[in-house]
Amino acid sequence: MKTVELLDVEKIRKDFPILKREVNGRPLVYLDNAATSQTPQQVINVIVDYYSNYNANIHRGVHSLSQEATDAYELARQKIQKHFNANKSHEIIFTSGTTHGINLIANGFSNRLKAGDEVIVSALEHHSNIVPWQMLCERSGANLKVIPMTQAGELDMEAYGKLLNTNTKLVFVNHISNALGTINPVAEIINMAHEVGAAVLVDGAQSVPHMNIDVQKLDADFYVCSAHKICGPTGIGMLYAKESWLLELPPYQGGGEMISEVTFEKTTYADLPHKFEAGTPNVCGGIAFGAAIDYMNAIGLEAISSYEQELLDYATQELNSLDGVVIYGPDKNKTSVISFNVENIHPYDVGTLLDKMGIAVRTGHHCAQPIMDFYQIPGTIRASFMFYNTKDEVDTFISGLKKAILMLS
Ligand SMILES: *Cc1c(COP(=O)(O)O)cnc(C)c1O
Repeated sequence: MKTVELLDVEKIRKDFPILKREVNGRPLVYLDNAATSQTPQQVINVIVDYYSNYNANIHRGVHSLSQEATDAYELARQKIQKHFNANKSHEIIFTSGTTHGINLIANGFSNRLKAGDEVIVSALEHHSNIVPWQMLCERSGANLKVIPMTQAGELDMEAYGKLLNTNTKLVFVNHISNALGTINPVAEIINMAHEVGAAVLVDGAQSVPHMNIDVQKLDADFYVCSAHKICGPTGIGMLYAKESWLLELPPYQGGGEMISEVTFEKTTYADLPHKFEAGTPNVCGGIAFGAAIDYMNAIGLEAISSYEQELLDYATQELNSLDGVVIYGPDKNKTSVISFNVENIHPYDVGTLLDKMGIAVRTGHHCAQPIMDFYQIPGTIRASFMFYNTKDEVDTFISGLKKAILMLS
């Protein structure tokens, strides 16, 4: 097998303090990256520096600390703008994460939809990209349609084409499925939706950690992600939206920072992006999100992705060599997520035994119950890799799995 020597993984691993720890007396093998990624020292330092040196509320104080915090927060916004190639920095709205971004948009459309309108969601979605739209449909009387999936774990694009019509107002789809790793053809999905005048929200929670995203090239109306899946802290994420949408949609929450003028008769809203950022934001989180983007870019997402692809191929090949292992999802066009089961063994039992060996995987429905229903399974075991994982760790995982299967069969 060819090895990409672009990444110095041993050096990279030293950036992540948590990778040195032991779990249940064994070195940690962390393979739950699709749930949350680990945080490098470079990002931890930024958090410590913020609280040690310039913690202050932003945009309000004339004093120096407030200025420093505001500047750092707005600089982070610009870094994020540049990374995703948004046209303007105020098209980047800080949120608490993917779920918040989706709810913000779902809420904004409450009064724009009427009975008979249609919204389309895909069968491969995370619950965060299903439930807010169901709630929106209940409020507005619009109908929810579902792009079906195929046995291979891909979207049925022909069926999608047939769902689209002039009643379609919105389409929601994830760029990459967190449960199967499927990379969806979002550019094509967006083009097709735009042809009937529908807007598209892309859930980028799983794509952002693994590939470069150009929101203008994709022509996405909305693109959302969470920092904690891209080596940043929890509680912060971003919503990209085209400026025209942000001007049109009403604010999501009322409070400080989002207003221009308040009287008891009428309140006018602040300019973008503040219209959508009510209350004291997660200042430190935003700054650390910017640092996480810097960290990923210093390594390079292309190098990251080709290395991860290699880990994926290796782990897939090793898993396929075990008897009774069934892998769900496509063979190609996927990111470093493997969802699988072992015949006649409950995924939870495997996960519990692996944890005893210091190996962290996720078991269950991965917040994507419709996918599990489709395959008629209670859940899967999911191993998901980041660029700081190694082939040695894959070997440890495989030999741990073999032991678990022996004990359980
Ligand atoms: C993790 C994830 C979410 C939810 O992200 P939060 O950070 O919990 O808001 C939504 N969609 C996908 C595809 C995810 O992987």
